[in-house]
Amino acid sequence: MSLLKSLTSNSSAFNFKPTQSTMTHSSPYRVRCYYEQLVPPPGKLTLLTCFIPKGSHQLKWDNICSSKRRSRGPVMAGKKASEGIKQEDGKYKHTVDLPKTTFGMRANSSVREPEIQKIWEENQVFKKVVEKNSGANFILHDGPPYANGDLHIGHALNKILKDIINRYKAAASPFIVNVLVKSMSYVQMLHGVKQGTILLLCFSGIMSLDEKARNDLTPLKLRAKAAKFAKETVKKQMSSFKRYGVWADWNDPYLTLDPEYEAAQIEVFGQMALKGYIYRGRKPVHWSPSSRTALAEAELEYPEKHVSRSIYAIFRVVSAPLTPSSLLQEFPNLCLAVWTTTPWTIPANAAVAVNPKLEYAVVEIKSLAEPDPSSGGKKKKGLGLVLEDERKPFLIVASELVPSLEAKWGVKLDVKTKQLGSELENYRYIHPIDDRECPVVVGGDYITTETGTGLVHTAPGHGQEDYVTGQKYGLPIFSPVDDDGKFTEEAGQFGGLDVLGEGNSAVVKYLDEHLSLIMEESYEHKYPYDWRTKKPTIFRATEQWFASVEGFRHAAMDAINHVKWVPPQAENRISTMTSCRSDWCISRQRTWGVPIPVFYHLQSREPLMNEEIIDHIKSIVAQKGGDAWWYMTMEDLLPTKYRDKAAEYEKGTDTMDVWFDSGTVLHGSSWAAVLGKRDSLSFPADLYLEGTDQHRGWFQSSLLTSVATKDKHACFLVLGCVVENWEGKSEACKLILGWSFDCVDLLVEQSEEYQGKAPYSSVLTHGFVLDEKGLKMSKSLGNVVDPRFVIEGGKNQKEAPAYGADVLRLWVSSVDYTSDVMIGPQILRQMSEVYRKLRGTLRYLLANLHDWKTEYTVQYHELPRIDQHALFQLENVVKNIQGNYENYQFFKIFQILQRFVIVDLSNFYFDVAKDRLYVGGSTSYTRKSCQTVLAAHLLSIVRIIAPILPHLAEDVWQNLPFQYITQDGSISEYVFESRWPTSNERWLALPTEEINFWENILELRTEVNRVLEVARTGKLIGASLDAKVHIYTSEDNLASQLRELCATKNDADTLHRLFITSQAEILPSLDDEHTVNIPYSGECLIQGKNKVWIGISRAEGSKCERCWNYSQQVGSFLGHPTLCSRCYDVVALQMPPQVAAVS
Ligand SMILES: [Zn+2]
Repeated sequence: MSLLKSLTSNSSAFNFKPTQSTMTHSSPYRVRCYYEQLVPPPGKLTLLTCFIPKGSHQLKWDNICSSKRRSRGPVMAGKKASEGIKQEDGKYKHTVDLPKTTFGMRANSSVREPEIQKIWEENQVFKKVVEKNSGANFILHDGPPYANGDLHIGHALNKILKDIINRYKAAASPFIVNVLVKSMSYVQMLHGVKQGTILLLCFSGIMSLDEKARNDLTPLKLRAKAAKFAKETVKKQMSSFKRYGVWADWNDPYLTLDPEYEAAQIEVFGQMALKGYIYRGRKPVHWSPSSRTALAEAELEYPEKHVSRSIYAIFRVVSAPLTPSSLLQEFPNLCLAVWTTTPWTIPANAAVAVNPKLEYAVVEIKSLAEPDPSSGGKKKKGLGLVLEDERKPFLIVASELVPSLEAKWGVKLDVKTKQLGSELENYRYIHPIDDRECPVVVGGDYITTETGTGLVHTAPGHGQEDYVTGQKYGLPIFSPVDDDGKFTEEAGQFGGLDVLGEGNSAVVKYLDEHLSLIMEESYEHKYPYDWRTKKPTIFRATEQWFASVEGFRHAAMDAINHVKWVPPQAENRISTMTSCRSDWCISRQRTWGVPIPVFYHLQSREPLMNEEIIDHIKSIVAQKGGDAWWYMTMEDLLPTKYRDKAAEYEKGTDTMDVWFDSGTVLHGSSWAAVLGKRDSLSFPADLYLEGTDQHRGWFQSSLLTSVATKDKHACFLVLGCVVENWEGKSEACKLILGWSFDCVDLLVEQSEEYQGKAPYSSVLTHGFVLDEKGLKMSKSLGNVVDPRFVIEGGKNQKEAPAYGADVLRLWVSSVDYTSDVMIGPQILRQMSEVYRKLRGTLRYLLANLHDWKTEYTVQYHELPRIDQHALFQLENVVKNIQGNYENYQFFKIFQILQRFVIVDLSNFYFDVAKDRLYVGGSTSYTRKSCQTVLAAHLLSIVRIIAPILPHLAEDVWQNLPFQYITQDGSISEYVFESRWPTSNERWLALPTEEINFWENILELRTEVNRVLEVARTGKLIGASLDAKVHIYTSEDNLASQLRELCATKNDADTLHRLFITSQAEILPSLDDEHTVNIPYSGECLIQGKNKVWIGISRAEGSKCERCWNYSQQVGSFLGHPTLCSRCYDVVALQMPPQVAAVS
């Protein structure tokens, strides 16, 4: 040491000036990063802005957020060496520890991802991971049917969200959250590819056959065709899901086509029927003429801009209750004016409904003397003949609507008198078509003055509210329309006409000719369409099977309260929908699906359905499948007791609604579990996760079937039987639940869980996927994003490159799915850029650990302060990310990853670390401590991104330069075997003063960089290593802390290393003697209060050939006249001077 000192003091004698050629500062690769732009403003996603010129593919280590002002001498030199470029300064190149890895910068995902998936499959990694978990199940129940064969981006969003959760649950062992050991999760994803769904695909296929070909198919042939199509589609969809990287038990998929589930569905139907929740009735239902079946609300779409022919029709009043206020005497030609958008329902009109609280006016129609000049002097279009008649009628309309009707009809309406709606009740009018006398009735709050006339045309056979009002008044349910949507003979002269086409026109024409039409106009609105055929539906009364929601609505509402809804506002949505939903029409006029187990008496049409029959059919279906209903004879389908009456009955032809089908899946599975056919599934499921449209679909259908079959009443009865050891318990159990006595024990165990509960403990909903402008995707707009093309690339790979599944998954994680989300080429490009940077960070870590061994780990208390602080930050990030996984807030994880992994780490720790890593000496303490920190980062980051980016994580894992040993001593060959990173309380326990101190340092460093930039622009320095930093602060505490850093013994914490400058000093004052030779300076406030003065001068001494730091010691060392003392120490250890001299 004394020798060193003496050499230093005489350094000028040895002053060595390197030639210009060894001093090449300017990198051919310019990478500029603007730190200010890197931290996204709160709530706004800003992507990292890096400008990288073309041809920059050679950039490797430096494109991770470094700057021109950073000195990268040894790195550049080494890189050139590794690329075979002749080195001028190659003398010490072999003493520099360059990054090295087999992990490529390019993802090459179209090749690598399938390779990784093959590794998982061949090694049964999913199975291994799941088998290692020994705790309770986590059941994510995969959702309802897919509407068509090809998966779209919405499916990808849904499936990937599920997979992120599944993979997280599989990896995260809860004991790391608390010290207390909790049970681990066992993940099972039910891949329910529902019968109804897939079969409906087949249905579309059959629709494309001509009518004759379709009619030639017997029900059995059609079912066989459907089943074949279903199985093929299952296969196709599975392969797409696998390509997304979705993990599941693919070899044992869950198909409702299987007889065991068909039987379970009959079981549920039976339970509900026996409790009296199922009834047959004639009610208006949504009917699709194009597919000739009833439809549930969830099978409808409501496209905007449907244009209906709306009419204002008038019905002539013939009698009024004789009260003093009877209007008929005063206005003999009195009419009720109604408005409808479905003129074809007028033949079925049975009443006109009024709102009792509304005020109605009797008005006289007067033609306008002059046509309205605003309409160009022309008469209004679509006016009826009645307005041309000399003797115009008096009309009853809502008072409030008089001005708008005047404008609409282009007439003057003189208000003669007014009356309350309640006074109009029991007025009678003549039906305009068949001269029936019909009443005025009091309707509900649905009668408003928003549109129309305030009087509502009521046809109980064609509308839900009309039906309810009709029930109240005993009105006939008239519905003269057949399965094809044509008027029947009952509709008289309109018989045979298509109600949505010529039938509608004929009715309008008839009304006009009979002076019953005021006006006709086009009306644009939302209208229910069949989701399969994309054609309009109608409301039509038919004989159907219904589930009486009224019977268990209260229990359902109660169950909703006990579910966790994500986002919370979803609870409101489903509550509102459930509280006002009408009875559920569950029968469908189709031959595919599960049959409704009912027989009808040939003469009386009375249905025959009881416990015995349901049991019998159930056991047949369990053995032979649903087809049996069609191929077996009546004698075989009926239980023995009824066989001799077989000739008197016929079997029903209806099947169950697909929503009933999907709603009962979990019952099916738990029933199967009770029967020992499937273990590991439990009730209720932990999570349902679907699009918001499922509030009226699957969330509701499964809730209703669950509550209706597993209500308290039944369970208490069974419990009662068992507890009291009542003799008839076996019968009772069978009666109540249709279960054999053997199941009771299991039921008792689970009954607490079952009581009146929803089938899920939490429900997560996501929005729809729109294009980048927020528009709905459609082929005509050309804005459809196909997940297959995102992964594999489009035809033009330049415009639509193959991004791979991980970029798609990264996008899924980045969006706030609680509302509608957006995707498009620009967003995908941004995602791919984020992915590339993440990959770059991981590559930096891998490459700098190429010679790392776990036994090199530096103990925590021996780590430099900067390293302890880095671990503190890492641990915080891991904890934070775990919290966000738990709360399903993946977009927050994405933001943290962006900020921490891509920006913060690269800007500070990695940047500062390069000096230690590359030139600190292979076996030096500072390099090992740095590698200890890097290894911790690599192992944590790779595991916390794994649920979102499983392929990237596995790719990293397969390139790990060392083995990872788990706590049980086994080697983790795959990333998911390594589980979630173990939490480290010690790292988190950094003292507050230390945390504050590093915050100060980081802030100060940013300010120093600003002044350095100014000095660089002023050509004082090139790289930051050319500079010396001078700092003054009057804050004693800060000054002494900084002095401490300057004098620190370990090289890692030294202040000038943190600044990446050659020297740094703390000035005692700002007197001229200290500042006279400092050309650049600036002032700032640290933490908003501590004033700090920063000066920049050129570094003192000469530039070290090896590390490019300036030092006055350069030239002091015999044999190594171009080295600084640090490098001398490193080199002297590795390479004795005489050897160096020879080279
Ligand atoms: Zn050096």
